[in-house]
Amino acid sequence: MRDTKRSRAWIDLDVKRLKENAAFLQGALPSTCALMPAVKANAYGHGIFPVADALEEIGISHFCVASVSEGVMLREHGFDGEILILGYTAAECFKELDYYRLTQTVVDASYGEMLARSNRNIFVHVGVDTGMHRLGETWQNLERIAGIWEKKNLTVTGVFSHLSVPDGNSPKEVAFTREQIRRFDEIIAGLRKRGIAGFGTHLQGSYGILNYPECSYDFARPGIALYGVRSKAKDDTLIPFEGKPVLSLKTRVQCVKELEEGETAGYGLAFTAEKKSRIAVLSVGYADGIPREIAGRGSVLLCGERAPVVGKICMDQMFVDVTECRAEIGPYEEAVLIGKSGAQEISAEEFAGFAGTITNEILSRLGERLPRCVC
Ligand SMILES: *Cc1c(COP(=O)(O)O)cnc(C)c1O
Repeated sequence: MRDTKRSRAWIDLDVKRLKENAAFLQGALPSTCALMPAVKANAYGHGIFPVADALEEIGISHFCVASVSEGVMLREHGFDGEILILGYTAAECFKELDYYRLTQTVVDASYGEMLARSNRNIFVHVGVDTGMHRLGETWQNLERIAGIWEKKNLTVTGVFSHLSVPDGNSPKEVAFTREQIRRFDEIIAGLRKRGIAGFGTHLQGSYGILNYPECSYDFARPGIALYGVRSKAKDDTLIPFEGKPVLSLKTRVQCVKELEEGETAGYGLAFTAEKKSRIAVLSVGYADGIPREIAGRGSVLLCGERAPVVGKICMDQMFVDVTECRAEIGPYEEAVLIGKSGAQEISAEEFAGFAGTITNEILSRLGERLPRCVC
């Protein structure tokens, strides 16, 4: 069969950059700290298999995912290292944890009791809530946290917490983060004092690494920075961000419509031509993860030029105004939504800005329908 992967809408992946980003983050951390990349949500939309394969090639042997099914996918793909499920797993899935050797987060002490009652042999990392108030046993409850080591069927290989505002650099935000670090350290010290050992510790995600690189834990869990992207366009970090974007999002022109002044394009008559116009129809839409919010705000690159997004975003199509383009735009022309075209670039940060959101949301929602093409 012909390679039809780049025929409609697709993602190009530069895995060399992924490896370079991993090296950059590793270089920011103490050498004793290993990366445990977050490859949840299909590796932030990049595609879990190409991402995990590339990272395994550079010696990564621990991954974080969000669900049992993501863990099972990695295991069945042949990954033999540790796979930590960061979220809650319901009791009916405990047999998969055991069968696939997945490591489960103990989301609080009573959840630990439930895991223990299952009588299945399960590897766990103990989550500690140091102020985020999402998952983890409350940091003040050292007794209850230490109790998890007494469960016969649970093997504790890690203890971790999560930072609420590692990206913030106001005094209040920094003080909050420092207090979370202090609480986490207090728990670790308390466990060691009781003779509990043999567990790995981890606290930082991307911004924890970039703003608090002095932390000295066994692992760090970068997600967004590994993909070479900041969460939002403007954020100053202590360690200047040097990541290079791994992903480009591209599509093709399906056809170009000539509109007379006053004619409209698309649903809701949302675009009206103010003069004779050329409107290119692109073969990508909100089912592929293009947010409807970018209509009227965003632009797309065609032949190295910017063309504004007009009309409403459809499920499988969208419109751009190519009237002002110097190049003759026709069917099958490549259009770049995120990435480079000629001298122009639309970064994931800029694209997320069109939609008023963060890159993490945009990337993780990129659709199943987009082939992931490794370059
Ligand atoms: C998603 C996630 C991460 C990765 O966060 P980034 O900000 O993308 O680096 C780390 N830890 C936990 C618990 C997460 O849920």
